Amino acid sequence: MVRPEGIAPPLGEKTDGAATVAEMAAILASCQLTNGARVRAFEEAAAAYLGVSHCVAVASCTSGLVLTLRALRESFGARDEVILPSFTFHATAHAVVWNGLRPVFADCEPDTFCLSPEAVRARLTPRTAAILAVHLYGHPADVEALDDIAGQHGVPLLFDAAHAFGSAWHGNKIGRFGTAEVFSFSPTKLLVAGEGGLVTTRDAQLAARLRAGRNYGDAGNYDPELTGLNARMSEFHAALALGGLEGLDARLLRRNAVRRRYEQQLRAVPGVAFQQIRSGCSSTCKDFSLLVDPAAFGASRDWLHEALLAENIEVKRYFWPPVHRQKLYRPLWDRNPLPITDSVSDRVLSLPIYSSLGEEQVDRVCDAVARAQAYARMNPAVPARGGHPRINGGGKGSSP
Ligand SMILES: *Cc1c(COP(=O)(O)O)cnc(C)c1O
Repeated sequence: MVRPEGIAPPLGEKTDGAATVAEMAAILASCQLTNGARVRAFEEAAAAYLGVSHCVAVASCTSGLVLTLRALRESFGARDEVILPSFTFHATAHAVVWNGLRPVFADCEPDTFCLSPEAVRARLTPRTAAILAVHLYGHPADVEALDDIAGQHGVPLLFDAAHAFGSAWHGNKIGRFGTAEVFSFSPTKLLVAGEGGLVTTRDAQLAARLRAGRNYGDAGNYDPELTGLNARMSEFHAALALGGLEGLDARLLRRNAVRRRYEQQLRAVPGVAFQQIRSGCSSTCKDFSLLVDPAAFGASRDWLHEALLAENIEVKRYFWPPVHRQKLYRPLWDRNPLPITDSVSDRVLSLPIYSSLGEEQVDRVCDAVARAQAYARMNPAVPARGGHPRINGGGKGSSP
């Protein structure tokens, strides 16, 4: 049998080769490889695009999250709990632990998969130091309800916006909300710089601490303000990020068109649901995930995962296992149940989505899902349950 041509995302958006090489040569010729004009130009361009006053470019989203919590840490006093979702990439939680703070996992919403404000409210204690939400797959978390809660409780609200460069909440770009938001420019994200991140904030003082923080904590007088990192963005990465801003909106529109085509075609397949886009929100569609209901579909998510991989379609169980079930975090999890997180994580399957994905390819994926469902319905031997080697992560699990 001829194996069908694979459908798998390229590692990052295609960049204009000649222009990129010329930029790299110009940077080399300038002898200023870091802390230079391109990083500043990118920060300014991002501030204009997002509509936020302060942008601090960093080496990665992870280092940006670590530094943001570090920059705020002194204001926490003895409070040491950070409320965050478990249905996220583990780097969100790592940033909490790197700061010696305690991750307190709260459940997600069943429709948007984003951190549930009600669940956050239930987890507030006098020890709560901060709330750290995630714009999941690019879908904005409920920024208003979370902001109300954070305001009432007097704690900072941070967003892991790794997926959300270009997402919007009622016309306002993500990047303008909470105390700070942190983006990623690593290869699977929307705007790709090879590696890189960006912290956005309206707080000038926080921005200044972050600028020091990314430079070993040194604001320039060789007497550090905080125990910082080297988390600077290089000129090369800034040039790639600047280049990536061009055409970004067109790529986001294309991804949304792919999402709609998937939804139209898969709506008729029994046992398949999708992340709901909240009214007034727009998403980058960094990922597009099915939610498989094993009883109605006739097979488990894990069976469908294998079936689509066998058709050379790159699908991912993203995010699975959820953070609280990963071995680093099981001992830190306080056993507060997270039923929605467990249920979504066990049933979710990400289909290929990228701006160069053609309509025929989308249709081929939909056809494969529909055929798998028809096959499962006719074959009672197909496992509708089980296939959950989840607790110890026997499978490969998620990757960013
Ligand atoms: C990719 C990702 C990160 C980490 O971003 P880096 O820039 O690679 O450090 C953090 N959070 C989420 C939700 C991610 O998907």
